[in-house]
Amino acid sequence: MTASNSHDRALRERAEVVIPGGMYGHQAVGLLPDDYPQFFSRAEGARLWDADGHELIDYMCAYGPNLLGYGHKGVNDAYIRQMGIGDSMTGPSGLIVDLAEAFVGMVTHADWAMFCKNGTDATTMALVTARAHTRRKTILKAKGAYHGSAPWCTPRTAGTTPEERAHQIHFEYNNIASLEAAVAEAGDDLAAIFAAPVMHDAFVDQILPDPAYARRVRELCDKTGALLIVDDVRSGLRVARDCSWSIVGVEPDLSTWGKCFANGHPISALLGNDNARKAASAIYVTGSFWFQAAPMAAALETLKIVRESDYLEHIQGLGERLRAGLAERASAAGFGFRQTGPVTMPLFLFDDDPDMRLGFRWCSAMLERGIYTHPWHNMFLCAAMTPADIDQTLAAAEGAFKVLKAEAPRLEPVPKLAFLTA
Ligand SMILES: *Cc1c(COP(=O)(O)O)cnc(C)c1O
Repeated sequence: MTASNSHDRALRERAEVVIPGGMYGHQAVGLLPDDYPQFFSRAEGARLWDADGHELIDYMCAYGPNLLGYGHKGVNDAYIRQMGIGDSMTGPSGLIVDLAEAFVGMVTHADWAMFCKNGTDATTMALVTARAHTRRKTILKAKGAYHGSAPWCTPRTAGTTPEERAHQIHFEYNNIASLEAAVAEAGDDLAAIFAAPVMHDAFVDQILPDPAYARRVRELCDKTGALLIVDDVRSGLRVARDCSWSIVGVEPDLSTWGKCFANGHPISALLGNDNARKAASAIYVTGSFWFQAAPMAAALETLKIVRESDYLEHIQGLGERLRAGLAERASAAGFGFRQTGPVTMPLFLFDDDPDMRLGFRWCSAMLERGIYTHPWHNMFLCAAMTPADIDQTLAAAEGAFKVLKAEAPRLEPVPKLAFLTA
């Protein structure tokens, strides 16, 4: 890789001059192995090409948006057709009603839908709706859960005020005692409980929801009149064709959606039940691009494929194949290799690797073999992947475990991850 990353390096140098820090947010420079490309030139199906033309099977799927495959023809045809008809207009096209009906028909708890651009728009609208509905301030969130990058929820507090982050209490995911203590602390001021559908935090094992915990969240909301919000921006459509908590039999009042439901086109959504309808019509939320018709056409086509194809069973089957194959190869090589989260959204961490030197080296070895994995963030499968892609990934993994076995005793700590063990 090092021999031929000259385009990427040149772009990085230029970016450093004209983009603060060289890049920002989850693309900020420095938290991936040094040989990872920062820039990409092309994407098709399950594959990505970096700025230097290396072909990679992509297990990040644009951090979620790629559900059916990059450049999906049916979805893009719908998008392009609508671009020719009308996209940004003085008001929405009728597609917004079609799309709201599609969601209400598909998501059990939903009686209505509102559309926006990013997941952060949707989670912020959910927060405001809950406070408008209850006329209370306090929200509960699971410790470490990501809900977006607005001042109330951004994981880095630079530039935010304590006031913007006030009225929030954190509890341990899946821990009923901790949840109940937080509810008690909120007293008569509880507006909402934000529930991550799965604990999919960075740097730690993923945790699936315990049905008893999910039911307790629902009971406590019913008892206090607070709204239950499931943030499905990341998990939506990768564990169910309904809200993700349908798998534990719990219906929220509000759910937030984004990333993948237009297969990469910019649109997100807040869905709600009749209980929250009045508050949702009282708040003022909007954006110049929120009514664009072309992403709605793409979303309608994506949801049609979601309803009518076996995309979900397909990615679940591939996820099982990947998980079983990796477990076998890791154990043959003598590594404790933890694979957590839904099989369609896996995260891999090595045992006895507090500073992630093993994970970093393994990912680099995968990259050298044409596979883009992530050392500490959950990954995603897409429906364009095939069993042959999984087998190519497993063959690469066998090589990567060998490299790791040979080099493990000599690996140095990763300086940029020193904060993990500080
Ligand atoms: C990505 C994400 C968001 C924020 O979505 P953006 O489109 O990046 O604003 C919110 N919640 C969860 C769970 C996410 O994964």
